[in-house]
Amino acid sequence: MTYKTMKISKALFAFIALAAISCQGTKETAPQVSDNVLLQPWTGPYGGLPAFDRMSLTDLKPALEQGMEANLAEIEAIANNPEAPTFENTIVAMERSGNDLGRVYSYYGIWSSNVSSPEFREIQTEMAPRLSEFNSKITQNEKLFARIKAVYEASRQNPLPADQQRVVDLTYTSFAMNGAELDEASKARYSAINKELSSLHTSFSNNILADEEGYVTYLSADQLSGLPESFVKAAAKAATDRGKEGMYAVTNTRSSMDPFLTYSDERGLREKVWNIYYSRGDNGDEHDNNKLIAEILKLRDERVGLLGFDNYAQWRLQDRMAKTPENAMAMMEAVWPAAIARVAEEVADMQAVADANGDKIKIEPWDYRYYAEKVRKKKYDLDSDEVKQYLQLDKLREAMFFVAGELFNFQFTPLDSGVVPVFHADVKVWEVADKTSGELIGLWYLDPFARQGKRSGAWATTYRSYDSFDGEKTVLASNNSNFIKPAPGEPVLVSWDDAETFFHEFGHALHFLSSNVKYPTLNSGVRDYTEFQSQLLERWLATDEVINNYLVHYKTGAPIPQELVAKIKKAATFNQGFGTTEYLASALMDMYYHTTDPTNLDPDTFERETLEKLKMPKELVMRHRSPHFGHVFSGEGYATAYYGYMWADVLTADAGEAFQEAPGGFYDKDLADKLVKYLFAPRNSMDPAEAYRLFRGRDADIKALMRDRGFPVTDM
Ligand SMILES: [Zn+2]
Repeated sequence: MTYKTMKISKALFAFIALAAISCQGTKETAPQVSDNVLLQPWTGPYGGLPAFDRMSLTDLKPALEQGMEANLAEIEAIANNPEAPTFENTIVAMERSGNDLGRVYSYYGIWSSNVSSPEFREIQTEMAPRLSEFNSKITQNEKLFARIKAVYEASRQNPLPADQQRVVDLTYTSFAMNGAELDEASKARYSAINKELSSLHTSFSNNILADEEGYVTYLSADQLSGLPESFVKAAAKAATDRGKEGMYAVTNTRSSMDPFLTYSDERGLREKVWNIYYSRGDNGDEHDNNKLIAEILKLRDERVGLLGFDNYAQWRLQDRMAKTPENAMAMMEAVWPAAIARVAEEVADMQAVADANGDKIKIEPWDYRYYAEKVRKKKYDLDSDEVKQYLQLDKLREAMFFVAGELFNFQFTPLDSGVVPVFHADVKVWEVADKTSGELIGLWYLDPFARQGKRSGAWATTYRSYDSFDGEKTVLASNNSNFIKPAPGEPVLVSWDDAETFFHEFGHALHFLSSNVKYPTLNSGVRDYTEFQSQLLERWLATDEVINNYLVHYKTGAPIPQELVAKIKKAATFNQGFGTTEYLASALMDMYYHTTDPTNLDPDTFERETLEKLKMPKELVMRHRSPHFGHVFSGEGYATAYYGYMWADVLTADAGEAFQEAPGGFYDKDLADKLVKYLFAPRNSMDPAEAYRLFRGRDADIKALMRDRGFPVTDM
C-alpha cells in the first residue's frame, strides 16, 4: 500500500530525529548515578533494560533538564578540548555523548505514543521549545563546528576507513546544512528566518484545523441513502457531540469525506462535501493560506540562498537517495503519462456504469469515488469478511517469524511475563537470536492492542539500536499497533490491509535488528529510502509458504483458497489511475514550488497554471491542494520530500521482481543473503544508491513500478 505508510513514517521520522538529537555530545565527565529513574543506566539482563515498570511522569521534566545539561557539558568539553581535533577526540566523542538524554527519550516516546495523558501533553508543550533551543545550542556551537570541519577537511586529504568517513561526512553535512558555516550576520538572519518560518508553519496548520472544525455538513434522516451502517452510526454520534441530536454530521476530514463520497447516493450533497473539503485554507477569509504559502516559499528560498544554493529542493535533496531535484522529477515525469492515461480509462469505465444505470450525468470530481466503487463491485468484488477469517493475528506473527528465520536466520523465542519490564500488561516480549549460532541479537517488544491514550495507526521504534564502537549492543526493537483486543480465548481477525501493515512494521523492526553499523550516526534514516525495506517485507505476506501454513481459516484450519488470493492480488491494481495521479499531482507541485523563483509567486495562479501544463485530468484534484498541503507547509519534514513515497515504491517493485525471478523465488538463499548484507544491515553506512546496485547489479528500473500498478510498459 502506498499511502497508509504516511502517518506511520511521519511519526517514525519524528522519533528518529529525536533520537538523533541525543547522539550529539560526549561522555567524558564521570558518570554519577541519579536517583531519577529515567536517567539511570539500564540494568538487568540483555545488556540492561529500560525500567518501564517504574517510570513516573513526575520524573520527566527534571530528567529532560538534567539530560540536556549533561549533554551540553559533554559538548562543551569536546569543543574546548585543548588537543588538536581528531576523529577520535571529536567525532567519536560526539558519538559517545548524550546517553542520559537518549534514555530519557525512550521513556518520552512511550508516554507520547503508547500511554499518553493530558498531564504528559502539558509537559510536552512546555518542553518542546526548550528541546529545540537545546538542539540549536549544539548545532550553532562554533568551536564544535570548527573541530568537525577540521576533521572533515583533513579527511579530504587523507581519507579515513569507509565507515568512519561516512560518519564524518554525515556529521559535517548536517551541521553545514543548518548554517554552521555562516558568518555572524548571516547566522543571525538564518535564525530569524527559522523563527519566522516556525510561526508561519504553525499558522498554516492552525488554519487547516480551523477549516476542518469550522465546516460540518449536517444531514437529515432522509439524506442517508447508500451510506453504510457504520458510517451512519459515527455520523449520528458526531452530530450529537456538536449539539445536533437527531442529525448526521459529515465532518471536514478525510476519514469522513472519503467514505461519504464513496457511498452517498445524493449527488448534490457529494458536490457540497467535496467542495468544502478541497477548499480548506482557500476560502478567502481569515483562515486563507495562500499568502502564507508565498511568504514561506520566499523565506525558505532566502535561507538556502545564504548557504549558496539555487533553490530549496537542491539544498534538501543533497543527502537523500535521489540527490537532486532533477532525479526526483525524472522519476515522477516518467510515470505521469501512464497515470493520466489510466484515469481516462477509469473515467470511461465509470461513465459506462452511470449510463447503464440511467444516471444522466457526466463524471465530475465528486462522482469519482462513487462510481469507482460501483466498478470495483462489478470487476473485483472481494468480501472482506471472508478474507478476515483467514487472517489471525497470532498466525500472522508466526508467519513473520518464519519469514525472518528464512531470510535473516533469526529465531524468536517468547519470554515469560515478568522477565522483561513492560509499560502495559498487553506488551509481550520475544528474544531474538541467530538460528545457527544461538548468539543473542536483541529483544522484540509487541504492543498489539488499541487503548485510551495510545495514538492511532501502527509504528515501529527502537529503545536501543545496534552499534559496536564501544562493544556490541543488544537491540531493543518494538512494534505497535491498534488491533481491537478480543475476549479471552478468541482469535483476533484482521483485514488484508492490516495484515500488510503488520508485516510492514515488522520490516522496520528487522531493519533495526539486522543493523551491523559501528557508529550510532550510521543508524540514521534517509527519508526517501528508509520506507523501502519495510514496504518490501509486505510482499512476503502473499508468498505460498505463508499462505499455505499461516493464512488458515480460524475454525477449519484450511488454507485461504487460491481464487481468493488471486482476487486480492488483482484488486491491488484497481483505481491506480486515481491513486497515482492524485498523489503525483501533489508530489510534482511540491517540487515545482521549491524549484521556482518565489518572487511575486501567487500560489492560486501557480497551482492552476502548473496543473494546466501537466494536463491534469479535470475529473480529479491533487490529493492535497496547496492551501492545505500540510506535509509541505505545516513544517519542513516533508517539504520536497513527498516524492519519496514513490521513490521507495520504485525500489520495492524492482526488488520484488528480483525475488520473483530468482531460482528460489522469495526464499532464494543467495538473494536473501544479499538482501540482508546490502539493503538491511548497512543502514546508512553506505550510500543507498550504491547499496542498491550491489544488491541488484544495476539501478532500480521504474518499469517494475509500472507493472506493479498495472500500467502499460512502453519504452521510457
Ligand atoms: Zn513505515
